[in-house]
Amino acid sequence: MAAEKVHIENMPHPETWLKVTPSGLFCEPGGFYVDPLRAVERAVVTHAHSDHARPGHQAVLATRETLAIMRTRMGEDQAGLSQQALAWGERVRVGEVDVWLEPAGHVLGSAQVAMEWQGSRAVVSGDYKRVPDPTTPGFVPIPCDVFVTEATFALPVFRHPKPEAEIARLLDSVDLFPERTHVVGCYSLGKCQRLVALLRAAGWDRPIYLHGAHVAICDTYAMLGVQLGDLRPATVAQKDALVGAIVLAPPSAIADRWARRLAEPVVCAASGWMRVRQRAKQGGVELPLVISDHADWDELLQTLEDVGAPEVWVTHGREEALIHAAGLRGIRGRALRLVGYGEEEA
Ligand SMILES: [Zn+2]
Ligand SMILES: [Zn+2]
Repeated sequence: MAAEKVHIENMPHPETWLKVTPSGLFCEPGGFYVDPLRAVERAVVTHAHSDHARPGHQAVLATRETLAIMRTRMGEDQAGLSQQALAWGERVRVGEVDVWLEPAGHVLGSAQVAMEWQGSRAVVSGDYKRVPDPTTPGFVPIPCDVFVTEATFALPVFRHPKPEAEIARLLDSVDLFPERTHVVGCYSLGKCQRLVALLRAAGWDRPIYLHGAHVAICDTYAMLGVQLGDLRPATVAQKDALVGAIVLAPPSAIADRWARRLAEPVVCAASGWMRVRQRAKQGGVELPLVISDHADWDELLQTLEDVGAPEVWVTHGREEALIHAAGLRGIRGRALRLVGYGEEEA
C-alpha cells in the first residue's frame, strides 16, 4: 500500500518548507498547519483528540471519520467552516504541495499526513500504535525523507502487554467478584470503544454500561459503522442492574462520588500509564489495565525501521531516548518540543 519514495537530486530539505511555529507545524508552500495548536485559516488534522483537533479553524482537511467526531465533540460551527474529507491514499494538491492520508491505527479516523513538495516528502504521524485495534484500520508505513513522531512512551521500560491479556485479567476479576461493579476509567474517544470491541471479541456479549460522558462518541462510532453491541447508560439509579456489570467512565469519574455509589465498585483504569504503579496507586486504581493507544518503545523503533527515513523529528514526549536510539541506527533526530500535545489521552 505504501507508495515508493524516489530519491531526487537537490530536493529541498523538509526543514526549508515544514516549519515549527508557535501555532504548530506549518507547511509553507502548502499554506496549511498540521494539527495546529490554535485556530488557523487552513488546518490538516490527524485525528479528533482535543490536543490535535482544536476548534475554530476556517478550513479543515481530515478523514471523514475525524470530521464526524470533531462535529460531535465541538459542534458543527466549531469543527471548521469548510470541511474537506479525504479517503485513504487520495491525493490532493494544497497550494503547491501534494497531501494524502494513511491510517495511523490510533483511534477511529486517525491518519498520518503525508506531504510532498518538489520531490521531498515528510510524514506527520500524529499519534499512532502498531498493535491491531478492531475499531480502526492499522498503521501503514510511508517511506519518507523526514518522519515526524510523538514519543509519549519512548523509554525502554514502556513495553505494553497484549491488550487481550489485559482484557482477560478484567474478565477474571468480574468472575471472581460477581457481586461487585467493575468501573473502568478510560478516555471517551478511542479507548472506550476499543475496550468495548476487545470485550466483545473476548466473548462478553452482555450489555456494557456507559457513563454519560462516553455516550455521544460511541453513537458516532456506531453511525460510522463500528459495531459495539448493546451499550446502555449507567445511572446510579440502576445500582442493582449494575451488579456484576462492566461500566466505562472517564478517568476523572472513577475515583469520585459517582463511582462510589455503584455496588462495591472495583476501580479499574485502562491506559499506557498504568504501567507506572505509582500512577495507578495515586488514582485509587485497584485493577490497572495496561492498554495504550500509543506506540510503546518497541513499536516506535520498529516504525523508524519500517518508514526508513534518514531523519526523525520528535514532536513531544520523551524525545531524548528516542533520538539517542535513532542515532545508533544512523537516523538523525531532532526534538521539536511542541507544547500543547499529549494533554488528552494515552
Ligand atoms: Zn491522540
Ligand atoms: Zn496526542
